[in-house]
Amino acid sequence: MPKDLRGRMVLVPAYLAAHLALDWVSFIHEVAPLNITPWNPPAGLMMGMLIVVGVRAVPLVWLGLMVADLMVRDLPVALWVTAVANGILAAGYGGAAWALRRRLGLDPRLSKLRDIVLLLVGAAVTPLAVGTGYIALHTLVGLFPWSGFAWALLRYWVGEVIGITVLTPVVLVALRGTAPHASWKGAAELAAYGLLIGVTLWLDFGPLASVQYEHFYLLFLPAVAVAVRHGLAGAALASAATQAGLIVAIQATGVETARTTHFQLLMLTLAVTALLLGAVVSERRRVEAAIRERQSDLARASRLTEAGEMAAALAHELNQPLSAAMSYARAARKIAKLEQASPRLSKILDKTVAQAERADRVIRSLRDFVRKGRSDPAPLSVGALVADCLALAAPLAGQHSVSIQAEVAPGLPAVSGDAVQLQQVILNLVRNAAEAMDAPDPRRRRIVVFAHPAAEAGFVAVGVRDSGPGLAGVVERNLFAPFVTTKATGMGLGLSIARSIVEGHGGTLTSERLPHGETVFRFTIPIHGAGADSDES
Ligand code: ADP
Repeated sequence: MPKDLRGRMVLVPAYLAAHLALDWVSFIHEVAPLNITPWNPPAGLMMGMLIVVGVRAVPLVWLGLMVADLMVRDLPVALWVTAVANGILAAGYGGAAWALRRRLGLDPRLSKLRDIVLLLVGAAVTPLAVGTGYIALHTLVGLFPWSGFAWALLRYWVGEVIGITVLTPVVLVALRGTAPHASWKGAAELAAYGLLIGVTLWLDFGPLASVQYEHFYLLFLPAVAVAVRHGLAGAALASAATQAGLIVAIQATGVETARTTHFQLLMLTLAVTALLLGAVVSERRRVEAAIRERQSDLARASRLTEAGEMAAALAHELNQPLSAAMSYARAARKIAKLEQASPRLSKILDKTVAQAERADRVIRSLRDFVRKGRSDPAPLSVGALVADCLALAAPLAGQHSVSIQAEVAPGLPAVSGDAVQLQQVILNLVRNAAEAMDAPDPRRRRIVVFAHPAAEAGFVAVGVRDSGPGLAGVVERNLFAPFVTTKATGMGLGLSIARSIVEGHGGTLTSERLPHGETVFRFTIPIHGAGADSDES
C-alpha cells in the first residue's frame, strides 16, 4: 500500500475521532438556539489541521463538523442548512489558514515571535468573518430574530478565539514533533506544574473562594513559569492544561453561563500572555544557539588561519638555513669534481642538492598557498561588523568582568572585506584587551570597539581601546612578529595573524599608547569601491 494512502487512512479517522471527542467534551454551557459554547476546541483543531495540511483538508474539516453536528449538537434546522453552514466554516477557516501560510508567511513550526502574533491575529479575525456568515444563515432560516445577531456573534467569537488560541499551538507543536524528551525529572516537573494549577483552581472554585474568579491571577504563575523554562511548546501545553482544568472546575461547581464567558476572557488573556512569552523565550534560545554556532565557526576559522600562519612562519624560518645548506652542497659538489673525488661522493652530493631544491619548492608553494585565497572582499557595513563582534564578544565580557562598548561614527561608508576574517581581527584584539585587564587592580575595566573615518583618504579606521596596563616592554618592539607572547599558554600568533589579515585587505594595523594610559590597536580597511581594494594574487 502506498505510504501516502496509509498515512491518509490513519489521519482521516484520527482527525474525525479527535474532532468528535473535543466537541463532545466541550459541549457545555451551550446557548440555545445556536448551541454556542464558551470554549470551542474543535476550531483550534481545524485551524491547526488546515495550517499544516493546507486547503486539501477542507473536505475533511467539513466532514468533521457534520459528524459532530449530527452526533453532538443536533440543531433544529434542515440538514441542508447544517451542510451549508459547515461549508461556510470549513471554507472560511481553510481560506484563513491559506492566507496565513501562503500570503503572510506563517511558519507552522511557530519558530518566531512573528508566527505566534500572526496566529493570534488570525484567531481574532477569522471567527468574526466566518461567524458573521454562519450566524446570518441561521438567522435567515428563522432560527432566531435579527435582534439577537450581535449577541450571538459575540458569544460565538469568544468560543472560537479561545479554542484556536489554546489548541492550535498545541496541534502545531505536536505535529512538528519536538516535544521534550521524557525523563523522570521532566515528569516530576510536569506533575509539580499540574499540582500548582490544580491548587490554584481549588483556591478559585473551592470552599475558600468568596468571589469565583478572585484568585484567577494566580493561574498566571505556573503558565509563566512553564513558558520561561520551556519556551513556546511549554506555554502551549500549559495554557491547554489550564483551560482543561478550568472547564472541569466550572463543570464541577456549576458556574453560571454568564460567568463562564467572563472566565473565558480571563483565560484568553492568560493564553496570549503565556504564548507571547514562550515565543520570545524560544526565539532567544534559537538566537543564542546560532551565536554559539557562529562562535565555533569563527574558532575553526581562527585555528585554520593559525595553522596557515604557523606554516608561513615555519616557511620563513626554514628558508634561510635551507638556502645556505643548498649553497654548501652545490659548493661541495663543485669541489668534489675539481678535486676528482670518488664518483660515489659526487653522486651523493648530487642527490643532496636535488633534495634541498625539492624542499625549497615545497616551502615556496606553501608560502604561495598561505598568501593566496586570503580574503573574499564584499561590501560590508562597519556598524553591522562591530555589532556582530560585540554580540560574539559577550561571553568574554562575562569571563573577564569587563564592559565592552561600541563607538561607531554615524554615516560611515561600506568597506570592502571578508566579514569572518575582520571579525576574527576585532575579536582577537578584544580578547587581548580583556586578558590584559585580568591583571590585579585595574582602574576601570572598559573596552571600546570604535570605528571612524581614517586620516588616510579612502579608508575607515576600526580599532579596540582598553583601560588595561599597556604593553609589556619585552613585546613592544616585536609586537606583530609570530611567537611573541607574555602569556603562559599564549602562542603569540594572534597579532601576527591580525596583521596578515589587515594587510591582506590593503590596510595597516598599528598600536599606540594614549597619554592617559589607554592602549589602542587600530587598523584601516578600504572603503568599498574607493579603488584601494587589495589584489593579492
Ligand atoms: P597571545 O595572545 O597568544 O600572547 P598575541 O599576538 O595576540 O598573542 O599578543 C602578543 C602579546 O601582546 C601578548 O602576549 C600581550 O603581552 C601583548 N598584548 C596584546 N594586546 C595587548 C593589550 N591590549 N594590552 C596589553 N598587552 C597586549
